[in-house]
Amino acid sequence: MSKNQSGTYRLDNPIQQPTDRVITAKRIFTGRRGGTIADAAVAIQRGRIAWVGSAGELPAEYGALPVESHPEATLTPGFVETHAHLGGFAYEFDPDVPEPERHDQGWHALTSLAPARQLASVGVTTVQSLGARNFADVVLREVIDHQIVAGPRIVASGPQLTTSGGHSWPTGGEVDSITEIKKKIRDHHKAGVDVIKVMATGGFGTFGSAPWNAQFTTEELRALVEEAHRLGKRTAAHAHGTQGIRRSVEAGIDYIAHATFISEDGITRFDPALADQIAEKGIFVDPCSPPSYPAVEGETSTPRAKELYDHGVKIVLGHDIGAVLPPSGYLYGMEQLVASGLPEEEVLIAATSRGAAAVGLAGVTGVIEAGYEADLLVIRGNPIENIADTKNLDEVIIGGFTFQRDHVEPFDPANRWSNFELKPRLSGLDARTQWVERAERAASHPID
Ligand SMILES: [Zn+2]
Repeated sequence: MSKNQSGTYRLDNPIQQPTDRVITAKRIFTGRRGGTIADAAVAIQRGRIAWVGSAGELPAEYGALPVESHPEATLTPGFVETHAHLGGFAYEFDPDVPEPERHDQGWHALTSLAPARQLASVGVTTVQSLGARNFADVVLREVIDHQIVAGPRIVASGPQLTTSGGHSWPTGGEVDSITEIKKKIRDHHKAGVDVIKVMATGGFGTFGSAPWNAQFTTEELRALVEEAHRLGKRTAAHAHGTQGIRRSVEAGIDYIAHATFISEDGITRFDPALADQIAEKGIFVDPCSPPSYPAVEGETSTPRAKELYDHGVKIVLGHDIGAVLPPSGYLYGMEQLVASGLPEEEVLIAATSRGAAAVGLAGVTGVIEAGYEADLLVIRGNPIENIADTKNLDEVIIGGFTFQRDHVEPFDPANRWSNFELKPRLSGLDARTQWVERAERAASHPID
């Protein structure tokens, strides 16, 4: 170890240094609408994009750089997962020691490294963690930024703010008043988070929390947004139920996860007027929903995506990876959005430039343009016409270096939970089915 100029320690042989080079491809999708360049080239210097354009117009100053050519491939910006849980992944198991709690932070940070690297291995070069025990995601961000391990860029929230006993309370972010909300946000700020995540409604993963009901008042959420913004942090709300979505919108939340529009009776009813408000306010939405369990034939993992898209809502790709889907589910999620009726180009924009904006990295990543970080994918084929081509990934470049990918088993849609063994405490996942059945039975119950 040695001291670098900023005074922090780093390895003497930092891993995976960026390589200055020119990459040519059959086409480049820049991340902008209509932004496809044929027979294109991109020049990378010091980890950033120095120039992009038609290969024939490459400026002379880049003529001496080594050339890497991919004549059959499309170059796209690296993908962004806007809703992962890096630090919640280890819910399913503990270290085999008498007192596992003593290793909590280290355990969660280290066990989250595998899914973070798996995400990068399928093309996700930026990951927003929206909920992690003991700031394990902040630790992970730091070791990656310090080039001690190679992984995706990480945007970290630390523990989600929730009510006592509310959704995800074991993560450690319980707050029950405006004073406690402010205190918790200041504490998160001190711990180095990038974004404040709040559980605006109950969730399927926490036994006894009702996903259709709001957990906070509009006034509480407003105070949360104000305090987070005061510290320069964005806010993201988990919201299944319509009541919690509405309160989040009224409070000025920047990002909504799920937006499933579940009502009191456990039945989802899309609210077009509320969708219009989400669109007007420019709130980003990841429409991922817990899939029915067992999976329902024909149901996509993004049941509300098309309706939200038709109302002009800014859809992004967040899949609750680490909590609901394994990392291999990202590309499946892209295909699900196309299956829901979103055009391929729209899904690619959502996965790249818009995703970057949603996680606070506008101007940094998600676009292939001079000045941006060189976060790029080399994909065989043309994902703008066939989204399934995203599986034909030849190379992942993060900050100008070629990421050495880990093996990732292809995602099996028939068994969405293949990587997870459900523990009884996660049985709230069946709650939707139970509530729907109960509502149906109640409807025919005599009330005399
Ligand atoms: Zn989540």
